[in-house]
Amino acid sequence: MKRLVVVGASLAGLRAVESARKAGFDGEITLIGAEKHLPYDRPPLSKAYLDAPEPEVPLYRTRGELHDLGVQLRLGQPATGLDLDRRTVDCGGDTIEYDGLVIATGATARAMPATDRLTGVHTLRTLDDARAVRAALDAGARTVIVGAGFIGSEIASGARKRGLTVTVLEAQHTPLARAVGDVMGAACARLHTLNGTDLRCGVEVSAIEGDGHVERVRLIDGSVIEADLVVLGIGAAPATGWLEGSGLELDNGIACDMTLMAAAGVYAAGDVARWHNPAFDRPMRLEHWTSAQEQGAVAGRNAVDPAHATVYSTIPYFWSDWYGSRIQFAGVPDATEFEVLGSPEHGRFLALYGNGEYLTGALTLNGQPDIMKLRALIAERTPWQSAVTFAQQRAALWRAERAS
Ligand code: FAD
Repeated sequence: MKRLVVVGASLAGLRAVESARKAGFDGEITLIGAEKHLPYDRPPLSKAYLDAPEPEVPLYRTRGELHDLGVQLRLGQPATGLDLDRRTVDCGGDTIEYDGLVIATGATARAMPATDRLTGVHTLRTLDDARAVRAALDAGARTVIVGAGFIGSEIASGARKRGLTVTVLEAQHTPLARAVGDVMGAACARLHTLNGTDLRCGVEVSAIEGDGHVERVRLIDGSVIEADLVVLGIGAAPATGWLEGSGLELDNGIACDMTLMAAAGVYAAGDVARWHNPAFDRPMRLEHWTSAQEQGAVAGRNAVDPAHATVYSTIPYFWSDWYGSRIQFAGVPDATEFEVLGSPEHGRFLALYGNGEYLTGALTLNGQPDIMKLRALIAERTPWQSAVTFAQQRAALWRAERAS
């Protein structure tokens, strides 16, 4: 095993490189990235990067640190093809040979047809996107967000913090139903209305219009919303276009086994990987920071030492920051049993999701002291009633804190 190639120079790709070195791999490492930037952290792009007076680029490591790790960087050069038989990756006109390959190409923000001819319409996935959105917010843009998902909601929150007029348009009747279920999707959505954002659910955009620059969003019901900035927060698709015809199984991401292996010598990690998660005995593709970094580390180790490949099993976890509050979710949202304590109006809530036997998911608002404990309870398959007792004790404590 002499050559490790990692495609995708972001969180999962970087963690793959670091873990390969940590595992004692001293061969060549090539890190290929489509963006020209050094690997950087995405979650701040829809949070501190939009809010801070002088935002910093959230780089994970300097060029010098990557040099010290012995990494050959090929930035600004997307990989364009993979040959599984020859064990090569095409990039920038070169054919790069590998013994082990980690694919960590993440996901690409979904756009809407015919919006690329208008300035002022953006998605938010990359640093360059965040720079453009921030510049528009700095200019005091009347802001329309299409899609009340987590990233769109964070941008809405940042725009409201600046006192801007913000409208969020959501096609579903309840936002976030797939991510956290109907009841808690509605509870999270109340944060928008409590903070002065005009949230409109069950609406459909018919056109985004303007003369060069965006001027308005037209809805199917005929209503029109004036806008200087439109951000499309309508999800992301796994970045697998370059792998079409390679022989890898592509179906909502790269299909992998429990060790994240997609083919002999080839592993995938992060938002692009769909693997069988033993913790829930089902295939999953997550778009969460925590799993991307954990998977990157596992894939990097497994790629350089396939004989001792380890399984990746996790209780999914993500967070999102809205209007000065933190939403955190662990586990899975499908539930036959459900318990909610607290409310957005109280600035705190905790919801439990169960499968009739044990705890399978938990959502908190401003529940930082509780969520990792709940995540551990999910991993331990804590009986439903014990989990409810735990939650009731926590809620009693909040009430006591509020009263004192
Ligand atoms: P990515 O970070 O998407 O990186 C993939 C990299 O591969 C990109 O740099 C891309 O340019 C590159 N690439 C793509 N195709 C090619 C190619 N053909 N050749 C070479 N390179 C290629 N998660 C949370 O849990 N909490 C949060 O609060 C949160 N906030 C977020 C806010 C924003 C604005 C965004 C965009 C994401 C957020 N996430 C959050 C999700 C989290 O950032 C992602 O899960 C994580 O970045 C995934 O890492 P990754 O390395 O798999 O993919």
